[in-house]
Amino acid sequence: MAYSYDDQNIFAKILRGEIPNNTVLETEHTLAFRDIAPKAPEHVLVIPKGAYVSFDHFCNAASDAEILDFHRTAGRICTALGVEPGEGGDGYRAITNAGENGVQEVPHFHLHILAGRPLGPMVVMR
Ligand code: AMP
Repeated sequence: MAYSYDDQNIFAKILRGEIPNNTVLETEHTLAFRDIAPKAPEHVLVIPKGAYVSFDHFCNAASDAEILDFHRTAGRICTALGVEPGEGGDGYRAITNAGENGVQEVPHFHLHILAGRPLGPMVVMR
């Protein structure tokens, strides 16, 4: 099935410079910026510049260069935040929501990096 990308989504507008963002890091293929409604003391969103709807879309359709750049940028964000557990940091959670069951609000693939407090259980059972 072909993925349908809505180029009016809020992150597409950020990438076009139509609305502002609080950039943490920008590379050739990737942008990282602070979440406008942070759920933890540190809450950074990492997004590819390409038009990908979800994690699976990105993994299946992005170029090797985009995938490499995205992950290196996410790693650099963890370093910049000082949260790497192997380097004495207190850790973090990296989450991506996809589609209806994943409760994805913005249909442009993004990785949430949350840190700065204990984040509780991964998912609440019910
Ligand atoms: P998700 O539910 O995984 O799609 O998450 C979307 C995230 O985007 C939420 O955490 C929002 O707070 C965040 N968000 C929405 N609009 C903006 C914006 N203009 N700048 C930064 N973050 C935003």
